Amino acid sequence: MAKLFFKYGTVFSAKSLNLIATAHNYQTQGKEVLLLIPKIDTRSDGYVATRAGFKMPAELIDDDTDIFDLYASHRDKKDNIDCILVDECQMLKTKHIDQLREIVDTYGTPVICYGLRVSYTLELFDASKRLFELADKLEEIKTVCWFCNNKATHNLKIVDDKPIYEGDSIDIGGLEKFVPVCYHCYKNPKIE
Ligand SMILES: [Zn+2]
Repeated sequence: MAKLFFKYGTVFSAKSLNLIATAHNYQTQGKEVLLLIPKIDTRSDGYVATRAGFKMPAELIDDDTDIFDLYASHRDKKDNIDCILVDECQMLKTKHIDQLREIVDTYGTPVICYGLRVSYTLELFDASKRLFELADKLEEIKTVCWFCNNKATHNLKIVDDKPIYEGDSIDIGGLEKFVPVCYHCYKNPKIE
């Protein structure tokens, strides 16, 4: 039975690397994968890219994209797709998560979503919340805190060496940086 997976983690937990490794595993077996990435992720430019330097082409999803229709059109073209992999899934709309769920149940194609659980303001992303509600399988991709050796659970936004706790939850690129932190270091970051 195909499943909807949500593999979540903090920034710097190698989510995109994990996605590309999974895509590579399918491809070495002669299987086809469909990679999707939200258009709002301005770093993406039609690719899933990792900090380690790997990249793979992905289809861009904007707010109006119906992913179910997109997948159906691939099937109409006889594209055989064995797995759908979604990067930065926290940036999707909740309706997109419903559409991915529908693909799993209608076509029996597994869908693996990679993304952040909570924003730097300590709120669940809407799409991540929907994934917690709908996914068959949840898996945490782990990494260590930037400041100590505890497991990182949250994302800290830093601008000009100061922690930022308020603002727009969807905020990427620019001068700010985000680091993975444990909750204690989120509240008390030892920024040099
Ligand atoms: Zn820590």
